[in-house]
Amino acid sequence: MSESKDKFLGDMPADEFLAGGGRVVEFINGYFDQLEKLPVLARTEPGRLSEQLPLAAPEVGESFAAIIADVEKLILPAVTNWNHPNFHGLFSTSTSGPGILGETLSAAFDMKSMLWRTAPAATELEDVTLGWLRQMLGLPEEFEGIIYDTASVSTMHAIAAARERAGLNIRELGMSGRPDLPLLCVYASEHVHSSIDKACIALGLGTRSLRKIGCNERNEMQADELRRAIEEDIAAGHRPICVIPTIGTTSSTSVDPVSEIADIAEEFGLWMHVDAAYAGPAAVLEEKRHFFAGWDRADSIVLNPHKWLFTPFDLSAFYCRDMASLKAAFSLVPEYLRTSEQTTVKNGMDYGIQLGRRFRSLKLWFVLRYFGRRGIEARIREHCRLAELFASWIGESGDFELLAPVNFALVCFRACPEGVDDPDAFNERLMNDINASGEAYISHTKLGGKLALRVSIGSIRVEERHIEKLWRLLNQGIGSGKLAEDND
Ligand SMILES: *Cc1c(COP(=O)(O)O)cnc(C)c1O
Repeated sequence: MSESKDKFLGDMPADEFLAGGGRVVEFINGYFDQLEKLPVLARTEPGRLSEQLPLAAPEVGESFAAIIADVEKLILPAVTNWNHPNFHGLFSTSTSGPGILGETLSAAFDMKSMLWRTAPAATELEDVTLGWLRQMLGLPEEFEGIIYDTASVSTMHAIAAARERAGLNIRELGMSGRPDLPLLCVYASEHVHSSIDKACIALGLGTRSLRKIGCNERNEMQADELRRAIEEDIAAGHRPICVIPTIGTTSSTSVDPVSEIADIAEEFGLWMHVDAAYAGPAAVLEEKRHFFAGWDRADSIVLNPHKWLFTPFDLSAFYCRDMASLKAAFSLVPEYLRTSEQTTVKNGMDYGIQLGRRFRSLKLWFVLRYFGRRGIEARIREHCRLAELFASWIGESGDFELLAPVNFALVCFRACPEGVDDPDAFNERLMNDINASGEAYISHTKLGGKLALRVSIGSIRVEERHIEKLWRLLNQGIGSGKLAEDND
């Protein structure tokens, strides 16, 4: 077989492609089917997979059957199963059937969306799909959208656009070696995601330009402190350019007072970028809309369909009212990319650092069409219900306490059974025991100086019985935890 493959210089023959494709779809189906029997966290050690793999690529081509067999034998045991319904760590994200099939098609078309001409379908479907999503989220028409890979990259582009709008000609002159430039300041809360720090690093602003504003006891940015920081910076000769409130912080899903922050941004002429990477999809629910009050006044917003909209990683939706500033920051058209329709169409390459962009909208279009607005609403609503249910068990138990309000579908809490001297160590051990069991995965954060356990509920596969199972594990865990401590 491999001999004939060597002589033939084309792609995989059609019959092999069909058989292999069937095998892959079957494999995926079987994988989803047996998910709950797999450990949530991969039971492997650093280096174990690498040492099982050859040191170099094969000299002659191998059969597809051999490749897929190794996926089962070698790759699968090293997979952390984000799709497992008891994956509650970090944020519980999940892919879906229509999302996977859409992704597959986009790999087949393999369009590089740079110019409208190189990818008319990708260019136009991106606008249409983001328009649909914008309506579902209740955002006004002034918001145009663009898809990036991740929220980290979306936010970096937001700050770049803010910097461009500040009119300092950084695009041409740069920032280094310029004594005429004041310190440019970006504001966010102390609970902001690390991607904002990274964006400041990447853009040459430096982490010293990022002002982290203090929060209240609900982990929400204090607007009066923001105002004071801006006034102090201006008095010191600095130049505030951007403020980034978060709706749904990573630690505890707290919500910054966006309306108040919008007033301040307006008063001082700052770009307001809203980080709703996780919680954004919850805006499809009428009963959650109050958390989003004021976000329609933003200059830009990011939310991640790959987090809580059942779309396979990666797809981050960036909405912006001022696409002109974004374009001014990045548009650059070399001769070989000049086209006759240049001025009448949207060319994706004008809105960021990438030239070619993937056809990501296809998978989101599949997801929105397949589940429909109501199907998506029902799933997100159910995740919020399960989180509230879980929180109610904590409220009724004397052995656990809530450490933050449950705004969306994340519960922050800790075990506090009687007779525990060091609750941080106790909870860390409880978490490590559950994670080592393979039955579930939970993660932690620090809230008000306390180690808090985080249970995120967001998988398209999660049901009430999975939450019940986790609750059992936690209660069994504190039983054995208490024993272990008594024996110490
Ligand atoms: C997850 C998250 C991010 C980062 O998302 P990526 O797409 O992985 O870059 C940023 N901000 C918040 C609030 C998040 O929850």
